[in-house]
Amino acid sequence: MSTESQRRADIVEVGRRMYARGYTASNDGNISIRLESDRLLMTPKSVCKGFMTPDMLCITDLEGRKLQGDRDPSSEMLMHLEVYRQRPDVHAVVHAHPPTATGFAVAGIPLDRAVLAEVLTTLGSIPIAEYATPSTRELPEAVRKYIKAHDGMLLANHGALTVGPDVYSAYYKMETIEHFAKISLVARLLGREHLISREEVMRLQGLRDSYGIKAPAPICADGPTDEMTCQIVQAPSSPGSRLVPDVTAEDGEIRLTYRELSALIEDAIRSLR
Ligand SMILES: [Zn+2]
Repeated sequence: MSTESQRRADIVEVGRRMYARGYTASNDGNISIRLESDRLLMTPKSVCKGFMTPDMLCITDLEGRKLQGDRDPSSEMLMHLEVYRQRPDVHAVVHAHPPTATGFAVAGIPLDRAVLAEVLTTLGSIPIAEYATPSTRELPEAVRKYIKAHDGMLLANHGALTVGPDVYSAYYKMETIEHFAKISLVARLLGREHLISREEVMRLQGLRDSYGIKAPAPICADGPTDEMTCQIVQAPSSPGSRLVPDVTAEDGEIRLTYRELSALIEDAIRSLR
């Protein structure tokens, strides 16, 4: 299969998964891939992303001019173009309306609290881009403020946007955001949300390299600062409270002795009581 036909198949598959998981309803959502430096493969407007076929996709240039395809490109094309302009490292963009994350976007609550170690390591904080009328030039302007430093964001009263070096990476970030939103909602309903300390956040950030994670920007050591260049995470400063041991092995793998592992489990059980 040629590269382009493989990319077409990838977009069809990601659209199918988004619809199957309820991240989009009706004709919502859009997906694009950078084919070469000046050509984008994009979902068309007014089709259900769960039932696309490879021939439905459009090819545009970086100005949004259609080069190929029977249908018109996505109504959110301007937002995609802005991401590719701002982030040369990005090769795929996914936009959807996952219900729990979009609920946070409607409530005006960003997913920026230090709660889950894995989210901090992979995505960092997930801010909310200011409200803009969908499909207008206002939306790319709202996205521009955060896209340099974030691979995922909520769009106020609208949905979520994720980007990555390939379309599956961008899509999995959408899954992570929705999963994180669900966990945050449950924790808040239960009435407790223990935050990870700032010291621990900085240590988790240090692990990014050893896992080969290329986050777009560092987490600010001491917020508040410029969200264009770093990520702001809400974390209490409480020196000494560490949740994971140091990475000491040469291959970067975390190895615990039986005694250390037992102590961690005991601590965890005690904190649940
Ligand atoms: Zn939308």
